[in-house]
Amino acid sequence: MRIPLEARIESAVCPGCACLCDDIDVTVVDGRVYQAANICLWGASKVLGHKRFHPKKERRRLAQPLIRHRGRWQTVSVDAAIDRTAEILIKARQPVVYGLTNAGCGAQAAALQVARQAQARLEPADLAWKAPYYQSLKKYGVFWATLEVIRDEADTLVFWGANPLHSCPRHVVRYSIFARGRFTERGYDERRLAAVDIHRTELADLVELFLQVEPGQELSLLQEVLTATAAAGGAVSKKARRLAAMLQEAHYGVIFFGRGVSYGPTPELLDGLAGLTARLNEHTPFVLFPLSTDFNAVGLYHLLLRELGSPLAPDFGAGEVSFHAEPLRWTDVDALLVVGADPFWFLSAAEIQDLHERRVPVVALSPVANRTTGHAEVVLPVALAGVETPELAYRMDGLPLSLPALLPASLPSDQQLLQQLAAALGCSHRGMACV
Ligand code: SF4
Repeated sequence: MRIPLEARIESAVCPGCACLCDDIDVTVVDGRVYQAANICLWGASKVLGHKRFHPKKERRRLAQPLIRHRGRWQTVSVDAAIDRTAEILIKARQPVVYGLTNAGCGAQAAALQVARQAQARLEPADLAWKAPYYQSLKKYGVFWATLEVIRDEADTLVFWGANPLHSCPRHVVRYSIFARGRFTERGYDERRLAAVDIHRTELADLVELFLQVEPGQELSLLQEVLTATAAAGGAVSKKARRLAAMLQEAHYGVIFFGRGVSYGPTPELLDGLAGLTARLNEHTPFVLFPLSTDFNAVGLYHLLLRELGSPLAPDFGAGEVSFHAEPLRWTDVDALLVVGADPFWFLSAAEIQDLHERRVPVVALSPVANRTTGHAEVVLPVALAGVETPELAYRMDGLPLSLPALLPASLPSDQQLLQQLAAALGCSHRGMACV
């Protein structure tokens, strides 16, 4: 479909985070977003092309495919970059397709096909805290609700290792802290709020109970809360008793957890949080809810569950597919294809040095220059999903939403490039020349 160069688009979907706010109004002039309304700074950075929370600093868009040759970048054709990527993946013994939480459903499905063809492991960027969550769901079978039901019904909210003001800013006005719902007409005044974190965050000024714990002490606090909610006695601190009392007084409660749980003993924490939710659920509706950040993190797990029957990281390397709940060890990787993520942002200096010393080739598909593209051997620029190319994405509560393109694209989508790569890998494995 041809995208007009001038348009006023109402109620578009923002691909800035997993809230997928569907009420943004955008004015397009000369094929660029001139104005955007009902959007937070995060979303604005995506549609207007500036850095997050820095409206005056533009993000550098990538324009042409690049291959690093003897330490110097060379501009190449898309076909040459795809061929080099296929060569890298075929030669590798333990290739990894990484990220995908910031990619649309079409690109995710194509990446799964690439992982199959390359006999690679596919690693979601947030596996560290999502795999234990899905395992705890299976164990405890806890209750689930959509964001609208939470907005309408929930009178008690706990944020555990999560700060929505940073990860999904409009969540607090549309669905949680300040949101006014059918049975929560007075919004903020009608909710009881608590937060648990290892840092003092902005939530400390908004919630009734802010529990700052030392790193490594989250699990003991959780165990004390579990003890306090159980009939059996046991030593419990005052803060754990206050949190337990708040939870037990709820009429409808939600425990939101975020990436912060991955800084502690994640499987044990998720097991404890799911156990606590299940116990509270015996008396009142309670939901354990992952506060996904990337705009289509949930879509990736839907795809894995639908295609493979497991939300864990699939590995096609051993002939038959195997599944991993533990995040990959970077020291095992010998080729890396990154889509919809920027892992070099959080890798430690030692891990990056190890990848360099072992000359692990990195291929990055990205619309913008980032730390991963800076370390890559092959860079493939792509159109912005949900802004320059239409996509499908799943909101953080699992609602699928269609994201039409707002702007014309001058670059191929990540889905197109991944499909081309999958075809190239298929031909190589069969020893055929691709036409
Ligand atoms: S909260 Fe997320 S989806 Fe909503 S406007 Fe902000 S970035 Fe976009």
